Amino acid sequence: MPEGHTVHRLAAAFERGFGGQRVRTSSPQGRFRDAAALEGMVLLGAEAVGKHLFLQFAPSADVEADSPVVRHVHIHLGLYGSWTFAGEAGFSQAHAIGAPRRRVGEQEEDLEGYGAGGEGGTPDWRRLVPRPTVRLRIAGPRGLADLTGPATCEVLDAAGRQAVLDRLGPDPLRPDPEGTGRRRFVERVRRSRTPIGVQLMNQQVIAGIGNIYRAEALFRARLDPVVPGTDLGTPLLEDLWEDLVALLAYGARTGRIVTTEPEHRDLEARIIERSRGTRQNGDEDAGVVPREKSFYVYHRQSLPCRLCGTTVCSTELAARTVFWCPRCQRVRSRRSTWTREHPAAAWALTP
Ligand SMILES: [Zn+2]
Repeated sequence: MPEGHTVHRLAAAFERGFGGQRVRTSSPQGRFRDAAALEGMVLLGAEAVGKHLFLQFAPSADVEADSPVVRHVHIHLGLYGSWTFAGEAGFSQAHAIGAPRRRVGEQEEDLEGYGAGGEGGTPDWRRLVPRPTVRLRIAGPRGLADLTGPATCEVLDAAGRQAVLDRLGPDPLRPDPEGTGRRRFVERVRRSRTPIGVQLMNQQVIAGIGNIYRAEALFRARLDPVVPGTDLGTPLLEDLWEDLVALLAYGARTGRIVTTEPEHRDLEARIIERSRGTRQNGDEDAGVVPREKSFYVYHRQSLPCRLCGTTVCSTELAARTVFWCPRCQRVRSRRSTWTREHPAAAWALTP
């Protein structure tokens, strides 16, 4: 499932590729009946909140974004959804979806017919017959986008969009000049005894975090995934939030998740990780940091920790596998009360 940074990149891609332009919409699969009602409208803009994408449609380009006539197409890719782009030269470049891989979502394989050359575009994109599984096709003057397999694809009015937003926690990638998002996150986590490793996957606590960022941010904080939220101090959680802001911003900028500090990347970089199929939801060509050096613990179970050499563990937590180093991630709490209540673990707080 794409994590929040990918959805923010998609929103930017739609703004650059279709923003302010009149588009054609269809549902080759037939399951998105509202596609006909959007036909010929202008795609005003795109918005990402956590893992949710909203595409705004209006009868004309001069409509204000908050006008009641605006229709919001709400898309959640879920586990299997993806977008595929094709278009004239520069179209895919313009929104920085790396070529030759055009498909943004859980899978990253090339698709026959969509062309392999990013810079040259897809010369015959206008004649590209959609696959029968395409839920929604959006075609503009310069290119098209095909949506397949989403968990959600629906048309909402302003109230419907707001109802979705009201169910979501703060998104680290949204501007937060007043620190409101960070405060909401900290208060929400500390209210519950639910383990931090479960809370990070709860989109009502924090929006946009998926399995990779969960495992990696917990490692960077040296936090055991099973520590209850109520045991965590405010400064620690503020640090965790700020770290996630930085990690997601890097992901949104580059299309890749990289969490390792440069000085740790060459330790235990194992070719074996390629063969075991480690993958992330990147949409860029393998670039600056190779995948086998990008993570501390994600999909590194049974390999030695990059920092201490202890074997990385994995287990189920919140219905997804969590990965952690049992030696590095011994920080239970930075509140002294915790160690008084649990003296047996006091040793874990000393480095
Ligand atoms: Zn370790």
